[in-house]
Amino acid sequence: MADECEGNTQTQTQNSQIEWSQPVPSLPIPIIWGRLYSIAGKHCWRNEKQNPEYYDLIKADFTLGRAPSCTFVMKKDLIKDDIVKSVSKHQFVIHRDLTEPLNPAIITDLSYNGTFINGVKIGKGNSRVLDDNDVISVTHEIVKIFLFKDLLKNEQDKVPKEVSQKYYISRVLGQGACGTVKLVYDKVKCTKYAMKVIKKNRLTNGQINHLNDPVKIMNEVKIMKALKHPCIISPEEVIDSRDAMYIVMEYVQGGELFHRIHKQSRLSERHTRFLFTQMVLAVKYLHSQGITHRDLKPDNVLLVSNDEETLVKISDFGLSKFIQEDSFMKTMCGTPLYVAPEVLRANGHRSYGPEVDVWSLGVIFFVCLVGYVPFSAEYCKDMTLQDQILSGNYYISPAHWESVSLQAKVLMKRMLTVSVARRITLDQILSHCWMQDKDVNLRVEQLLSLQQHKYSQVTTNSSSNSDEENNNSGHSVVTLLKTIPTNKRPLSNSFSSCEPIPKKLRVAVYPSVGNNDDSSKTDSYCSQES
Ligand code: ADP
Ligand code: MG
Repeated sequence: MADECEGNTQTQTQNSQIEWSQPVPSLPIPIIWGRLYSIAGKHCWRNEKQNPEYYDLIKADFTLGRAPSCTFVMKKDLIKDDIVKSVSKHQFVIHRDLTEPLNPAIITDLSYNGTFINGVKIGKGNSRVLDDNDVISVTHEIVKIFLFKDLLKNEQDKVPKEVSQKYYISRVLGQGACGTVKLVYDKVKCTKYAMKVIKKNRLTNGQINHLNDPVKIMNEVKIMKALKHPCIISPEEVIDSRDAMYIVMEYVQGGELFHRIHKQSRLSERHTRFLFTQMVLAVKYLHSQGITHRDLKPDNVLLVSNDEETLVKISDFGLSKFIQEDSFMKTMCGTPLYVAPEVLRANGHRSYGPEVDVWSLGVIFFVCLVGYVPFSAEYCKDMTLQDQILSGNYYISPAHWESVSLQAKVLMKRMLTVSVARRITLDQILSHCWMQDKDVNLRVEQLLSLQQHKYSQVTTNSSSNSDEENNNSGHSVVTLLKTIPTNKRPLSNSFSSCEPIPKKLRVAVYPSVGNNDDSSKTDSYCSQES
């Protein structure tokens, strides 16, 4: 038996394990994912010598209560009379979804008299993530019955206490240019979030700068958190520790736009319009708030569901704030597939404006429609990737473009215009003839309205009558589709450095010229003059 509030995995014996384990399922090979150690004390167990030392958790569900159907039945031969009388037939259930690795164990209180974790009542119908070393009490906080040991490897001990106290660290969702993204669970709300972990040594290169100044970090975070739009992922919370920044944000389940294009080879014009309209609205909102994204690419466009008509979520919009210009250049210019020519020309100086995002939207638009990237070193031996971008020579494969409407081609060309002055603006994109699809616009509006409702509920209490302040909080969808007055806050130009990790070239399907059935059609480059 474990000492009160102290689990000891080393002392278990094989005998007690056999006695108290659930029947071993045949296949797959059972794993013991957790252990409940009975806690010594005068309030709960009748006779300490007869108590189980521990109870192995193997199946997805463990239930405790008076009902004979429970996994652990509270009976008078083991538990004191008054406790047996006060526990519910179904006191609590511990559930662990074993279909995916590193899902947390979740305890749900089903009782009238209460189930307690470390002395805190869960409450009937409420759930909590059950943590390693958590003490479970029933009917009263002093009636301690079990101490939970989590036997699945997780990374709780690899993050600072501020993070592990609040979040359960689950599996890795992906690896990005500046850090790893992990699935985490809020331990009290039991809701999923994505957490981006950015190691500071990657960002600062050991120099004293922006990222070493917690006040400045938190100022930026405040700005990022204040941004609310159905199509952007704003951070829920940012935890700044000595070695890393932990950005907790909404978890999006539908994957990246990149994967969707990759899976379907290319998207239909309607499908593209549905997603692209939302991207434009999101970027327009960011610009109205003084934020230039700078890193728009299909990997940063996440989809909420697998449906064709899904909500789009733009991520990483605030991250460029933490990256110093020269490092940003190095990162982006390793493979500058989506980077505007003026960014390349600026050569490490931030002498460009929000129009860079329109260019990136143009590249995304191009990739959605035809499934290959417009610029690549593979396309032309005589021209580097950089030179192709600087001169706006995107690669046109007739086999891919022949089925695309003329209006879509014109819109693509207007976005991929090298001259910033002549490049189409976001408002002009929204009123472009290719975008005028009543059905799509209505469906997008409906989708955004649903999300908008969420934000307006949050902002109602704090909203004032000032127009400017209203623009900063929740927009109605109608406003989103119209011009939003530009916010007067200047662009922040305070950055920190980010050690570049070159990302693999993605969506680079080289158009096969030789397989083109129609020999009269030749591949071509589109120069800006043509
Ligand atoms: P990148 O530098 O390519 O933008 P990120 O670090 O932003 O990479 O993301 C890495 C991976 O994590 C991506 O593949 C993405 O699918 C996943 N990811 C990022 N943010 C979220 C999120 N909010 N919800 C779900 N998955 C996410
Ligand atoms: Mg990203």
